[in-house]
Amino acid sequence: MRLKDKVAVITGSSRGIGRAIAEEFSKQGAKLVVTYNTNSVDAGKVVDNIISSGGDAIAFKLDVRDRQNVKNIFNETRKHFGRVDVLVNNAGINKRGFFEEITDEDWDLIMAVNLKGPFVCCQEVFPCMIEQKAGRIINIASVAGQYHGPKTVHYAVSKAGLISLTKVLSRYGAPHNILVNAVAPGIILTDQTRDELNSPAGDRIVDMTLLKRPGNLADIASTTVFLASDEQNYITGQVISVSGGAYLG
Ligand code: NDP
Repeated sequence: MRLKDKVAVITGSSRGIGRAIAEEFSKQGAKLVVTYNTNSVDAGKVVDNIISSGGDAIAFKLDVRDRQNVKNIFNETRKHFGRVDVLVNNAGINKRGFFEEITDEDWDLIMAVNLKGPFVCCQEVFPCMIEQKAGRIINIASVAGQYHGPKTVHYAVSKAGLISLTKVLSRYGAPHNILVNAVAPGIILTDQTRDELNSPAGDRIVDMTLLKRPGNLADIASTTVFLASDEQNYITGQVISVSGGAYLG
């Protein structure tokens, strides 16, 4: 029960890494706001699993590109649970492509979801955390933002931007006891990576890790729990690369 009674909003928690984080948070005693963009059925299953295991969770539709939608989520969370202790900016998308292949539309979409979305979520949750005199924000970045591509130009830039946002906001958060950190996953098997991991490039990607294997959802979830918990009260503005040594920093 490392997160007992903490209220956590996890963006993009209908599946993949976000779902694993939501379920682990619940096991650790947190009350969950699960959000989905298109996948209401899967989000409903996540909430049902949590509730049938004795936890507390509610699902909302959230498109992080829509500021009013983001505002409403935090208002609804406060109405339902009374507070917001933890925000995990997990929602993210990828479209692999080399430099010369990226269209304006692809660039704008990736930036809107992966970088502006977390910015808006942070901006909208900050006043609540300031009022509470405490808060934790964990941004799910990527080793791509540390390693810098090359096959994911816009994605890598968006995640490098998210790492920078993490560091800048740790300065704004510190006077209010709001700790802002990032987790940078390496290659984790989810819907986002399945095709690439199963393609001929898959072995090469795995070979880039020192541990010579993809990571598990649990590796990301447990690191995120640690950053959200009271086990640590002195880490802010940092990026933890959970990448099997694909990035050595
Ligand atoms: P998935 O594709 O499995 O899940 C993405 C989640 O984001 C879904 O819940 C989806 O909702 C939600 N989402 C998509 N677009 C939006 C939007 N506009 N607004 C709100 N929510 C949205 O991704 P992963 O679990 O693989 O990735 C999760 C995070 O981890 C991402 O930020 C990703 O970049 C990062 N990451 C993943 C790695 C990996 O190896 N898998 C490696 C490094 C980083 P819905 O289901 O409703 O469509």
